[in-house]
Amino acid sequence: MSNTHRVVILGGGFGGLYAARALKRAPVEVTLIDRRNFHLFQPLLYQVATGSLSPGEIAAPLRSVLSRQKNTRVLLGEAVDIDPSAKRVLLKDSSAVEYDSLIVATGSQSAYFGHDAWREWGPSLKSVEEATTIRHKILFAFEMAERMQDPQERIAWLTFVIVGAGATGVELAGALAEIANHTLKNDFRSVRPQDARIFVLDRADRALSTYPEDLSHKAERSLLKLGARVRGGVTVTAVDQEGVTFQTHNGSERLSARTVIWAAGVTVSDFCRQVAKRAQAETDKAGRIKVNPDLTIPNYPDIFVIGDLAAATKPDGTPLPGVAQVAMQGGSYAAKTIIRRVEGEPQNKPFRYFDKGDLAVIGRARAVANIFGVHISGFLAWLVWLFIHLMYIVEFQSRVLVFIQWGFEYITFGRGARLITGTAASDSVAGTGKLTSTASV
Ligand SMILES: Cc1cc2nc3c(=O)[nH]c(=O)nc-3n(C[C@H](O)[C@H](O)[C@H](O)COP(=O)(O)OP(=O)(O)OC[C@H]3O[C@@H](n4cnc5c(N)ncnc54)[C@H](O)[C@@H]3O)c2cc1C
Repeated sequence: MSNTHRVVILGGGFGGLYAARALKRAPVEVTLIDRRNFHLFQPLLYQVATGSLSPGEIAAPLRSVLSRQKNTRVLLGEAVDIDPSAKRVLLKDSSAVEYDSLIVATGSQSAYFGHDAWREWGPSLKSVEEATTIRHKILFAFEMAERMQDPQERIAWLTFVIVGAGATGVELAGALAEIANHTLKNDFRSVRPQDARIFVLDRADRALSTYPEDLSHKAERSLLKLGARVRGGVTVTAVDQEGVTFQTHNGSERLSARTVIWAAGVTVSDFCRQVAKRAQAETDKAGRIKVNPDLTIPNYPDIFVIGDLAAATKPDGTPLPGVAQVAMQGGSYAAKTIIRRVEGEPQNKPFRYFDKGDLAVIGRARAVANIFGVHISGFLAWLVWLFIHLMYIVEFQSRVLVFIQWGFEYITFGRGARLITGTAASDSVAGTGKLTSTASV
């Protein structure tokens, strides 16, 4: 058995992948384990959900991303348990992997705040599968509206509700409005896709509530121009096949909507809860592990927790947001700390997050951005968004493909991936039971 220091990384998302890359030239053996065989660029999932990009354009096989990294092997597997004293991780297929240093980066999942039954009618946007389900729902809704004779039913099929007015909700609403106003404009005969009603509901009183107020208002105004309305200060109390019920300051309201999308919250991965339990680590309300300033778990200096799973704070005590930059920087930091230890160098300084700002895109060629405290909006902010997203898409091949795709769509208003995949025909029967025959349309 070799004496080389064994680093195991769980999760090949932003945190895990950046940790692996930072260990490229280190005198260690790296094993990266993910339950998926690809790295997913989650910030562009909404473009898959709205037919702009195909899943393959925002995902890159982990094995190929790391193929040139000779000290690293990639394993397909799902971590389900850990024995922190024996320094061993247990995988779902009952095999065990031993480590000298462990980096836990298994990310977050959608949270329905105790109402998991809502997931059936209001899918969330976290995986490729969910993105294609949403794409199906959106395109299918227009198809159904075209076939409805009852005006109320037609309106319900043309009503789209997004729960959550954070960046994901705002980006989805903008893209949906573009589909209705431009992409599908000439494609239907019985309905006008431009008549679609798009609502974004949030408990906070404004969209993008973590952004500066002026940018929130700009984002809301841009959405309104596109035909999407943000309703703040509302709490959703039910999501079902027919629509959404929510509580406002004036009482309960109901919106009949056949398409509901959940973009309202996240919680940690199941594996993270298991790590917290086994290591008796303290967690915050969302289940994130309260880590030491060097991102390790108290009493376990060999276990790093990074990205969406770590309840780390800024020097002033405010929690770090669940964004890609925090995960990437945390991954690189954990890797450097391990290298210092292996090479016998003095301890690394505490982790400091370098906040470059926030960006949200609103439809075609509009965005709001807070870059190093400078607030920009409109086309300029969109150009910044474009540049940053192309820069960070992992695989060079995807970068070129995505750029070509966006360029083409920008000029034509088209959307290349407008496919309804899955079981559209059976959905139509289950959907309402009130279909008119296609012959009458
Ligand atoms: C729709 C959407 C839009 C977003 N937009 C933005 C944005 O515009 N800007 C931004 O900065 N951030 C954005 N984010 C947030 C950002 O994507 C996350 O903060 C970031 O991905 C967190 O990185 P991570 O490494 O902690 O987890 P992830 O990137 O989620 O990676 C976790 C990995 O762990 C794997 N995994 C999970 N459980 C297990 C297990 N038990 N065993 C093995 N593998 C496992 C998963 O397959 C996955 O590959 C967005 C997120 C979503 C969902």
